[in-house]
Amino acid sequence: MSHLMNTYARQNVTFTHGEGVWLWDINGKRYLDALSGIAVNTLGHAHPRFTAALTKQIGKLIHTSNLYQVQEQELIADKLCQLSGMQEVFLCNSGCEANEAAIKLARLYGHNKGVADPSIIVMEKAFHGRTLATLSATGNRKVQAGFEPLVKGFVRVPYDDLEAIRQVARHTPNVVAVLVEPIQGEGGIRTPDISYLHGLRNICDEQEWLLMLDEVQCGLGRTGKWFAFQHTDIMPDVMTLAKGLGSGVPVGACLAAGKATGTFKPGNHGSTFGGNPLASTAALTTLNIMEQDKLLDHAAKLGAWLKQQFLARLGGTKGVVTVRGQGLMLGIELDKPCGDLVGKAREQGLLINVTADNVVRLLPSLVFSESDALQLLDILCPLITEFLAQE
Ligand SMILES: *Cc1c(COP(=O)(O)O)cnc(C)c1O
Repeated sequence: MSHLMNTYARQNVTFTHGEGVWLWDINGKRYLDALSGIAVNTLGHAHPRFTAALTKQIGKLIHTSNLYQVQEQELIADKLCQLSGMQEVFLCNSGCEANEAAIKLARLYGHNKGVADPSIIVMEKAFHGRTLATLSATGNRKVQAGFEPLVKGFVRVPYDDLEAIRQVARHTPNVVAVLVEPIQGEGGIRTPDISYLHGLRNICDEQEWLLMLDEVQCGLGRTGKWFAFQHTDIMPDVMTLAKGLGSGVPVGACLAAGKATGTFKPGNHGSTFGGNPLASTAALTTLNIMEQDKLLDHAAKLGAWLKQQFLARLGGTKGVVTVRGQGLMLGIELDKPCGDLVGKAREQGLLINVTADNVVRLLPSLVFSESDALQLLDILCPLITEFLAQE
């Protein structure tokens, strides 16, 4: 019997090693990885240049402390600001921690301008993590049930609904920020109207609220831009990152710009491991390789082609509601729960995920090739068609 806490309904498969977009299990069976550890393995598995850079760093220094200057942390902060236009970075180890930092920053920003009881607008179907504050910000009762009392200070509105936010602005005086995913990941790869972020930016400017974007899943090249907000002409005040940032090494970041800059002072926030030399090197190397190998353009082009192929092959199929998403962040919504597809795909050597009960979620690594994409289509499309034809 396992001595692990029973927190996951794990699939019955164990992997021993990987290479690129492929994983091998303990029986030697090979799998095409179209999930990349839930948008984590940006560079696929065992990327040679990434492995070499990490190996070198491990031989020099893994951890010192945030009591000291950390050169590698300065470099990744510079790089993230250069790519995003943001001004400062706090480094941590995960998405929920990045969001905790954002939530604390927003509250402090509120207190600094005299709001004693600050609250943050959050969205239905949002996912922001599993710590107490982030599960309270999450818009999914399953994530919250049993962990009450929830953290106070969140006001929930429907996603992609600017009028609902204007309503809150009129009636709730203590709001200081909006926290939102530019594309909802766990919520079912939901993409808002193209004018949504722009509208949010306008309201936040009028109200002097912080616009805080959770790009933990959609950021870091997945949508074909470094950050999903870069498909628009707006800038956020706060942005959070994690998943793909370290290509598998745990690292998260909370970035600030504009009126959010300079909010935290020494003693306000911290993390023992946050941004240690190993994690910072993993992040910096990931970004450098993405740049050298032009993986953003690749993600944009391959993603657009994949989406068009899914639409062509499944668009007319009864039971397929929509194919949506951007770049290599794609969702295929079916008209019934489809969790069974995960096992059926795995039997055929393909790793996928189902989220929000009825959305097939694809988050392949950014090194996925056109021939990998063809194999994905050739396995998945018939599976979905057969699945929908049953009953
Ligand atoms: C995964 C995820 C998180 C939480 O990240 P962890 O590293 O699991 O804490 C937060 N926000 C979004 C949008 C995510 O997809």
